[in-house]
Amino acid sequence: MEGKKVIFVEDSPTMRRIIMNSLNKIGINDVTEAENGLDALDKMGDASWDMVITDWNMPEMNGEELVKELRSKSNFSKTPILMITTRGMQDDVMTAIKMGVNGYIVKPFTPEVLKKKIAEIFSAS
Ligand SMILES: [Mg+2]
Repeated sequence: MEGKKVIFVEDSPTMRRIIMNSLNKIGINDVTEAENGLDALDKMGDASWDMVITDWNMPEMNGEELVKELRSKSNFSKTPILMITTRGMQDDVMTAIKMGVNGYIVKPFTPEVLKKKIAEIFSAS
């Protein structure tokens, strides 16, 4: 996980702090934070990213819209995306997978589960 460049998109400052701690704990230290999809696109620019970790429910541009946008861009069409969802969103998860999300994780989760998910996605991509 060392040296991976990740953008993490989450609107809740509390969740952002908790998940940032988890990411750091599992050795992902090169993390850029964004507050919503628009902020993420702005911060991603033309740089290359190893993974996008994004919440679903956010103002301005939500996770679904962000994924659609990324998959329509040639430079981000293959960038691994991990979607963070809440319980009871099974239909939305299916939609997300059809849209090209590489994996999803349901809140709340432990650093160990997060690590496993991220490792799965990296080994498959
Ligand atoms: Mg949210």
